[in-house]
Order: sequence, then C-alpha cells, then structure tokens
Amino acid sequence: MEFTPVIGLEVHAQLKTRTKIFCSCSTAFGAPPNTHTCPVCLGMPGVLPVLNKKVVDYTIKMALATHCTVQAESRFARKNYFYPDLPKGYQISQYELPIATDGYLDIEVGGSSLRIGITRIHMEEDAGKLIHDPDRPFSRVDLNRTGVPLMEIVSEPDIRSPEAAGEYLRQLRAILRYLDISDGNMEEGSFRCDANVSIMPEGSSAFGTRAEVKNLNSFKHVEKAIYYEMARQKEILLDGGQVVQETRLWQPDNGRTVSMRGKEDAHDYRYFPDPDLLPLVIDPDWIECMRAQMPELPADRQVRYMKDYGLSSDDARVLTGSRELADYFEACLSEFDQPKTIANWVMGDLLGLLNARGLDIIDSPVSPTSLTGLLKLLDAEVISGKIAKTVFEAMAETGQPPETIVEKKGLVQVSDASAIDPIVDGIIADHPDEVERYRSGQKKLISFFVGQVMKQTKGKANPKVVNEILEKKLG
Ligand code: ADP
Ligand code: MG
Ligand code: ZN
Repeated sequence: MEFTPVIGLEVHAQLKTRTKIFCSCSTAFGAPPNTHTCPVCLGMPGVLPVLNKKVVDYTIKMALATHCTVQAESRFARKNYFYPDLPKGYQISQYELPIATDGYLDIEVGGSSLRIGITRIHMEEDAGKLIHDPDRPFSRVDLNRTGVPLMEIVSEPDIRSPEAAGEYLRQLRAILRYLDISDGNMEEGSFRCDANVSIMPEGSSAFGTRAEVKNLNSFKHVEKAIYYEMARQKEILLDGGQVVQETRLWQPDNGRTVSMRGKEDAHDYRYFPDPDLLPLVIDPDWIECMRAQMPELPADRQVRYMKDYGLSSDDARVLTGSRELADYFEACLSEFDQPKTIANWVMGDLLGLLNARGLDIIDSPVSPTSLTGLLKLLDAEVISGKIAKTVFEAMAETGQPPETIVEKKGLVQVSDASAIDPIVDGIIADHPDEVERYRSGQKKLISFFVGQVMKQTKGKANPKVVNEILEKKLG
C-alpha cells in the first residue's frame, strides 16, 4: 500500500529591526549575555510594552508579498507557559486575530507549478536562550534575545513532498531577503521551521494524524526529517498501529526523530488578549504606503528575465533565486549585452566555483567586471573558448583581471593562417594513415586533426581558422 504525505510548515523569521518588538533594547547579535535588556524585556512587574512600528511595517510587506489580506484590526494575545527562557511567564503573540490571513505562494517543483496556501502571518516576541554546560550541574540563560521580533508564517497542509517543502522554504526565504526584513539564515536561527507531517493512503483525501517536527536547522535536514517521518508513520500504519499526535525532535546526528512531548492543545496555553496592548488598527493608507515601498520580488524578476532577456524559466528562476545573484547578473549585463552567454557562465562556471569553495555570491572572487571582461575577449576572438576556461580559473585563483592573465600567460588566440599553416602541414605529414582514411570518406576524422593542432598550440589556435585550413589541405 502506498501513502501520500501531507505537510504543513510553520516558519519563524527573525525580523531585522534595530530594536526589540516592545522595548528599545538593541537586537544586535553577539553582545555579552544579558546586556541588551531592560525592565520591559526582563518582564519586571508593572512595566508596559510599546509596539515597534517597524515590526508592523515589515509584516505588512511580507503579507503583501504572499498575497495575504492585511486585517484592519488585529490583537496581541498572551500565550502562557513556564520556561526559564521566558521571564514573564507568557509570550506576547497573536492568536485569534492575526495581522494577516489567507495568502499563497506559487512554487515550482519538478517542472510543475504548485500553489501553497498561507493560513496566517502573525507577530510575536522571541524568548531568551538557555546555555547548557555539560561540565556543570546548572544551565545559564541569556536574555538578549528576549523580545526580538519574530514573524510566524503558517502554511496550509498543501505540501505533498519533501522536495516541495524545501522549495516552499527557499521561496519564502528569498522573499524575506528581497524585502530586506530578515537574514533568513537557518543555520544561525534567524529562519526556523517546524514541519507538520502526516500520511494518508494514496488516493484518499482524509488526512492522517500529524507529528510536529522541531529542530530543523537546514533545508537538507527539513527534507530528510520529512522522509524519515513518512517512513516511520508508514511502518506504524502497516503494522496496524496508530500515529500519535505529538511534538518530535529531529536528531541530525543519527537522522531520526524522537518523541519530545505530547502535542499541547491551544487551550493549554490559556491564550487571552493582552490587556497592556491596544488592538492594532491598520488603515488602508498604511498598507498603500508599504505597497509603494515594495521592491521587485523574485517571481516578477523571473518573468522579466524571461520576457526581456529571452531566458528559459529554469534559468530565470536560478538567477533570481537570491537578490544578490540577480544583482550580480544585472551588473554583468550592464557591461556586456549578451544575457544568454552571461547566464550560462554565471550558472555554470561561477556557481560551480562558489559551490566548490562554499562561498556566497557577494564574496565571489570573480567580479562582474572581470567576468564580462573575459566574455568580451572571447567574443572578440582574442581568446578561444578553451582558453577562456583557463583564464576563468586563473581569475578565481588570483583575482586578477582577465586582460592581465591573458597577456602575462601569452594566451592570445592565434588566428593568423600563416602561423597555423606549417603546423597543419606537419600533422598531415605525420599521420598518413588518417589522411588516407579521411580522403576515402571518413570525414569525422576532421576532429582528430583539429585536436592535434590544438594540442600543439596548447589550445591557442582559433578553431574556425584551423578547420578552414584543414579542409582546404585535406581536400
Ligand atoms: P499548532 O499551532 O498547534 O501547531 P495549527 O493548527 O496552527 O497547529 O497547525 C500547524 C500546522 O499543521 C499548519 O501548518 C497546518 O497546515 C499543519 N497541519 C494541520 N493538519 C495537518 C495534517 N493532518 N498533516 C500535516 N500537517 C497538518
Ligand atoms: Mg505548531
Ligand atoms: Zn528591553
């Protein structure tokens, strides 16, 4: 019996505001423990929270980017629970009336387009950080992170494969970064995801019981954890058992999930409207003001690349995958007007190089000016295609401009027939058998002769000229 997974994702994105959500403490990362704190974020009695307007600005932008309805009135609520990283004993969040609802995100998986519903987006505060020291009989707490603004984005259970889950997350993160409202860094925890996973028999439409998986700190792990859950739940069901609704912890070291706690129900938290905060009223002007500030988003940029530059949808999607990569591509275009050539080099050689070295595009050792300089030399037939690869590698190694490398290493292409003629003559004289076979009809042998010339000229001969001379002489 085959099963289909049903997946819904809850994403927490840390917002890049200068100060916290309800006080003016700094959100800067890396300060000594407990130095970015004040009575408000420490939860002292009698203090009053004041909402940071930027948090609302950013959330409205995200809501617009994901086609959500921004609610004219929303509310903050207290989510009550006890834990040492939460000094107030409750987290200020939004519950019954979130700021945005009913949106969607279109993603592409395996060549087809999928629309993933977004149930809601709400704002909340982050908790502190517990530091467990294995050598000591106690833990410590750093409250610098307490009150840092988070945006939670909850998807509908519309996702049907681990790959689609990964793609949804990548899209979401790309949008956050295009909007410049979150770093979206999973490894560093500014972009966190809980995956809700259930399975149902193929063809069925009745959802099974879900497990919620936490501690997913990379895209790879999200996909792996979902695969693991699918297999685990399938085994239970085939054994005649029942999946328990619970929260499970992903263990990256052994690639398994383990039960963490029974799933708490909403009523366990005793949510109630926070009496210290007024209802949040957003008038249409505020929304329009945010709309006017929206940058071009990845989906629009992709369409523009297809329309204006004639790129395929796959190429356009890769290039617009991050704002920095798209900016790099456009910087190249402003210096060299051949979109397809640039796209091929950026996606092939450049991304290959960055992957191999584990670098981001902003740290690329080859600048747009260097790359387009190389393409110009190639276009003007100063260097051959083969030599271009060598020059590219040298640019990556040394950071030198292509012109310098070509000159220093003497890589200029030889197109002068009088220089190539004698080499061709020599090769013809050395290979009487091949010449014989060529003349008796094995025309494919031309590439053998071209190869010989290239070998002798160390790839510098102009292949077009070589071909012409060979054809003439072999006749
Ligand atoms: P909670 O806040 O208690 O985790 P929510 O109702 O907010 O619960 O749902 C959390 C997530 O679980 C949502 O992303 C939703 O799409 C997903 N979900 C709901 N039912 C299922 C199911 N049967 N299988 C997989 N995911 C589900
Ligand atoms: Mg949840
Ligand atoms: Zn504070």
